[in-house]
Amino acid sequence: MPSARSAQGGRKLVAKEAPRAGMTDFEAVNWFFARGADRVGLRDEIRHMLSTPWRELRVQVPVRMDDGSVRVFVGYRVQHNGARGPYKGGIRYHPEANDDEVRALASLMTWKNALVDVPFGGAKGSVQCDPSTMSQAELNRLTRRFTQNIEHILGENRDIPAPDMGTNAQVMAWMMDAYGQAHGHTPSIVTGKPVEMGGSYGREAAPGRGAVQVLAAWAQDAGVNLEGATVAIQGFGQVGGWIARLVGSLGCTVVAVSDVRGGVYNPLGLDVEALLAHVRENRFVEGFPNADAITNEEIVELPCTIFAPAAVGTVIHEGNAGRIKASIVLEGANHPTTPGADLALGERGVTMLPDILVNAGGVVVSYFEWTQNIQQFRWEETRVNEELGRMMARATQSVLERSSREGISLREAAFAIGVERVARAIELRGFV
Ligand code: NAD
Repeated sequence: MPSARSAQGGRKLVAKEAPRAGMTDFEAVNWFFARGADRVGLRDEIRHMLSTPWRELRVQVPVRMDDGSVRVFVGYRVQHNGARGPYKGGIRYHPEANDDEVRALASLMTWKNALVDVPFGGAKGSVQCDPSTMSQAELNRLTRRFTQNIEHILGENRDIPAPDMGTNAQVMAWMMDAYGQAHGHTPSIVTGKPVEMGGSYGREAAPGRGAVQVLAAWAQDAGVNLEGATVAIQGFGQVGGWIARLVGSLGCTVVAVSDVRGGVYNPLGLDVEALLAHVRENRFVEGFPNADAITNEEIVELPCTIFAPAAVGTVIHEGNAGRIKASIVLEGANHPTTPGADLALGERGVTMLPDILVNAGGVVVSYFEWTQNIQQFRWEETRVNEELGRMMARATQSVLERSSREGISLREAAFAIGVERVARAIELRGFV
């Protein structure tokens, strides 16, 4: 992989310049980072350290397919910064996965983990593949080979993967098993495992549950009544599916949902339980009765109160920001909004609830799972949800307070808090 430093031309990262259209994912995340760094007056040498990943690994993943042929996939693990603890971040299986995206996502994990104050650094991994076209046996072989090829940089005190888009509890069980073949039984090597394999109750729901908690806390602080608010959700997997299930508890109505094939829309509301049953039967939302078919471009611009991106990145960009009708964007996905779109929507008074806060519930419950695996102990689901609620409330409050005190956006406040904590850990370690 070319180094990120050279990709930036060695320029000092400052966010005073307006964001350019067409920034890569990592340039865009670094732009948000630089704004946070400017805000806290970060020293140049630490700024340079934090604007490039600590370690990047790219591996070949040859897999014997069911038809007897061998396909060679490309896999990545990027460890962005480990000043606050072992590297932590999900593994994504997606056809468009690439080195720049995984760098961006690893950097976001550094800021997210610091913001919610879990003792982890930031990492991310991915394999460029389309899991929807692969059998379970092929995915098992791919996961084992990928794990073997990155295993030397993993460890329960070194780097702990988790699920992300295209992976799930089953993939984590395969990773744990492949790692265990070399190192002995090590459940704490991955989080987001099946409950029967040492996973935490409530882990799958956690990013969606945390997102709804952030939305509720923001609304209470802003004095906004969400009763009757309409919600459109792009992505109906672990994150989007749980936002859809739980947002009704705030009095909101889900009017549209999409997945990789497209979406369904009914301005009067969708029956979320019936939609989940439809997806269990048919894999995709298409064909759901009493709803109109819409595209993934249309769902972003639908008339609704809340738009929740919960799938791929950069779906809100300079090209469509002006047409977005929602007054609140709840970022369940990682990096769904480009810097230019973020500024434009902020200027229009749209509330941007930022990814590194909104979807942090996943890593919070991963933290519970990791510590409990190490202690061979497990909380009941009610305790998991209570503790998650407490940690999300604390993080949300810190962002709301900082944003209001300094007159900055919620995203800038979230990055400032994250950057400050990571920089402090670097200084305390005496690293520079
Ligand atoms: P998932 O694989 O469970 O679900 C992804 C959903 O998005 C599916 O419905 C899929 O069909 C849809 N999708 C895929 N490509 C799409 C496209 N091009 N356009 C529209 N929809 C598309 O994934 P997930 O775990 O729910 O992750 C979704 C997002 O949330 C990602 O950005 C991920 O990084 C982020 N996230 C996940 C977790 C976690 O613990 N799973 C935690 C924090 C953030």
